[in-house]
Amino acid sequence: MDTLVFATNNKHKLDEVTAILKNSVAIAGLSEIGCHTNIPETGHSLQENALQKALFVYDNYHCNCFADDTGLEVEALNEEPGVYSARYAGEPVNFEANIDKLLDNLRGITNRKARFRTIVALIMDNHNFFFEGIINGYILTERKGHNGFGYDSVFVPDRYNETFAELSADIKNTVSHRAKAINQLCQFLINKSNNTIK
Ligand code: IMP
Repeated sequence: MDTLVFATNNKHKLDEVTAILKNSVAIAGLSEIGCHTNIPETGHSLQENALQKALFVYDNYHCNCFADDTGLEVEALNEEPGVYSARYAGEPVNFEANIDKLLDNLRGITNRKARFRTIVALIMDNHNFFFEGIINGYILTERKGHNGFGYDSVFVPDRYNETFAELSADIKNTVSHRAKAINQLCQFLINKSNNTIK
C-alpha cells in the first residue's frame, strides 16, 4: 500500500500514530510533503474539522490522506471544551492556559467525569470514511506527570490510577481515544488491501 499522509504538524500525534500503526501502514507527516501550513479548523464538530484538514491536503497535494480531530468532553461542563479544546483559553493555542481554565471551571464540582473523543477522517480515491475512538475517565484537581501533551496531565483513564502524563507512551498508545480510532482505520486499510489482492 502507498504511503498515506497524516494531515498533522503535531509531532506528538505523529509519533503516537506511527507507534500505533507499527509497520502495518507507512505514513508521512505534513512536513514530509512540504506542507507547513497551519490548516484551518473552523468546523463546529470534530467530524467537520477532521474532514476539513484531510480535504485541504487532498485538494492541494492530491494524495490519499487522513486527519484527526479530538475533543475533551467534560460531563459537568455540558461536554465542553469539546470541539474547542485546542483554543479553550483563547488564541494562540496554549496547553497550560487551557488546563488552568478547565481546573478553574471545575473548582468545587464533584462530578469529574470526562472523555476524550477522536474522529479520524480518511480520504481515499475521492471517498470519505470516518472512524471514532473514545476513552472515558475523570479530571483531577491538579496536574500530575510530564509525558504527552494537551490535557494529559489532568486526565485519568478508567481502570488506571495515573494520568495519561504519568502512564507510559506504550500504555497510552494501547488504550487512548486516538489508538482506538487509528486501529479502526488500520483494520479498514488491511481489509481493503486484502480485498484488492483477491
Ligand atoms: P486536535 O485539534 O485534534 O489537535 O485536538 C484539540 C486539542 O485537544 C489539542 O490542542 C489538545 O489540547 C487536546 N488533545 C488532543 N489529543 C489529546 C491527547 O491525546 N491528550 C491530551 N490532550 C489532547
